[in-house]
Amino acid sequence: MSEQSQAAAPGRVVVRFAPSPTGYLHLGSARTGLYNYIFARRYGGSFILRIEDTDLSRSTDEAILQIISSMREMGLDWDEGPELPGSHAPYRQTERQPIYHEYIEKLLAGGHLYPCFCTPDELEAERQAAQAEKRAWVYSGKCRALPAEEVERRKAAAEPFTLRMHVPPGKTVFHDMLRDAVEFDNDTIGDFIVQRSDGTITYNLAVVVDDVTMEITHVIRGDDHISNTPKQVVIYQALGAPVPEFLHMPLLFGTDKKKLSKRHGATKLEQLTAMGYLVEVVRNYLCFLSTEFDESMIAWTMDDLVEKFDVLKLGTSASIFDPEKLRWMNGRFIRELDDVALGERLEEYLTRVGFYGEPAVVEKLAKLGPDALAAEVEGAETAHVLRVAPDVEQEALTRRLAPLVREKMDVLADFVPIAGWFFRPLTFSAEAAERLAGTANAANTLTAAAAGLRELPEWSAEAVEALVRDLPARLEVKPKFVFAALRLGMSGQTITPGLFESLWVIGRYEAVGRLMTAAALL
Ligand code: GLU
Repeated sequence: MSEQSQAAAPGRVVVRFAPSPTGYLHLGSARTGLYNYIFARRYGGSFILRIEDTDLSRSTDEAILQIISSMREMGLDWDEGPELPGSHAPYRQTERQPIYHEYIEKLLAGGHLYPCFCTPDELEAERQAAQAEKRAWVYSGKCRALPAEEVERRKAAAEPFTLRMHVPPGKTVFHDMLRDAVEFDNDTIGDFIVQRSDGTITYNLAVVVDDVTMEITHVIRGDDHISNTPKQVVIYQALGAPVPEFLHMPLLFGTDKKKLSKRHGATKLEQLTAMGYLVEVVRNYLCFLSTEFDESMIAWTMDDLVEKFDVLKLGTSASIFDPEKLRWMNGRFIRELDDVALGERLEEYLTRVGFYGEPAVVEKLAKLGPDALAAEVEGAETAHVLRVAPDVEQEALTRRLAPLVREKMDVLADFVPIAGWFFRPLTFSAEAAERLAGTANAANTLTAAAAGLRELPEWSAEAVEALVRDLPARLEVKPKFVFAALRLGMSGQTITPGLFESLWVIGRYEAVGRLMTAAALL
């Protein structure tokens, strides 16, 4: 660890990642989770996963499972949280309601809350008046000083009411680890609602109660939450609870400098993995886009990130997510994998996208581009319905193909259009059929090659190569026509891995059969 980071080293560290389970893990969220994890590990702290599922209309159990599986896949192991209960359980906000109400009682007893009977229409009128005067609206505080008898009378008459925080006059200051002191004038905060008229609790109250009861020391989250923080600090102070350190991370933006969203294409971890991005590349990229980068960092492990990536040194300007850079980095990473590792990753990937079940269907999608695979995942109700494990032959074939495709892929999805044909019977694309028909002496070449391969004493890539290289002279056909006829004839398509290795990998029986079939079409 550098001297500088030691100097800044925080004391006891308990952090949390608190995603709202409304869909697949968004890259911005994944980044927040990752930075929290790295911070906890780097400073010997504890990492809690908490699920903020109070928005019942948008939260689903399926999304919780997705988040858990994405976190595991990214290697973001939590010390406490769902499936790993510790002393601060439970971890779903919907299961923590009694705790929130206990704290509401505490705040009421301390005189920090008051009932507000203002109707939505009254509040709307206030808002419009503010708008007309071109000032930002905060609640007027109309119900702050209602006489006790009036409150009792209106409650007895079953008038709906919310509970609002009585925000004291003055200023609220908190410490942000990237920005130092951040100050808000309390007049701009306004008495905010902590309990709605239906008895449900608002985000700001729930998050503070969770952070207090879970003994969180450092709150690391997106800077879109900065405007919530003063409200939360007011609650901490009313409770007499220690205020944590905050670190508001700059949000992710697209290359067009707009906040990262659906418009920017694949922005969810599941979509990227469906396109064949490797999770460690995504993980590294999410750190590298906030720091200086050199190529030696591409293969960093999580341990490297923990040791070398210091969240405290982030800047405060927006971070740009550039898919082209990510793609380039993924290609570089793939080329550094050995045959066994790449074979494993391909097998895992092809299983994930359902390729082994229906190679032709996945191939069709992949030919439209990796985005089409991402869209398929987005559309699938659950990512794992697609999964189909390979049979023994498919597995062996995948492993053998790994070295043949390594140089040709940036994302694992690139495997499918180049090598999908190995996994299905010979069929010709219209383009390939036309090209084969237009290739000089194709029928002769195919028949001669098939005969030669059938008789080859030894089945090796070298022997196949020697035979094929001999054909142009023997048949008196230009080499480019021989190669074209064989490439098209064995695969039914125009782009394949290297010709000799491909013929060798398909095996003698299949290679001969394919070339004969192709010859018969001419
Ligand atoms: N659930 C919030 C979100 O997903 C996080 C709130 C927090 O970290 O305080 O943005």
